[in-house]
Amino acid sequence: MPSDPTLRVKALESLLVEKGLVDRATVDALIDTYEHRVGPRNGARVVARAWADPEYRRRLLADADRAIAELGYGGMQGEHMVVVENTPRVHNLVVCTLCSCYPWPVLGLPPVWYKSAAYRSRAVIDPRGVLREFGVDLPDDVEVRVWDSTAEVRYLVLPERPARTEEWTEQQLAAIVTRDSMVGVARSPAPAGGRSA
Ligand code: FE
Repeated sequence: MPSDPTLRVKALESLLVEKGLVDRATVDALIDTYEHRVGPRNGARVVARAWADPEYRRRLLADADRAIAELGYGGMQGEHMVVVENTPRVHNLVVCTLCSCYPWPVLGLPPVWYKSAAYRSRAVIDPRGVLREFGVDLPDDVEVRVWDSTAEVRYLVLPERPARTEEWTEQQLAAIVTRDSMVGVARSPAPAGGRSA
């Protein structure tokens, strides 16, 4: 088999189609769904709702699956999710040390770095160092909690709501939530046009 992963996947797909094990249209539809229709915008809507509605936030932290399903998200690779909340004293970081488990329904497909051996091992051994490489320099008094995803449990970080967004609508809030902040390799972005605190 070729060494390039893309070619290897293509070869594998051809083989499966040839053997009648999968239908190419089904594979294409699945890839299109997770590349274009399911992605971090879903997670951003969940985060924005939690920022805007304290009751929803409470439900999300207590039973993420049910609260996420309220917004219509769920399914493959996200059957059991746990939401962990960042605070001024706690920063959460998500990794899958074993492979690349990731909450597809709310974040889409994992980025390449998330699947890399370097991230998978170093996120656990040296989370602060990894965060610094992502441009996040955490003060010493902020505790870092690392969550190891598995096929059974996948984590989503609820970032802190940025200051000076009190008057914002849920839609405006959703627009500033980034994928990286929901994996924990970024903090909440400062609102556009605002000074940093
Ligand atoms: Fe995994």
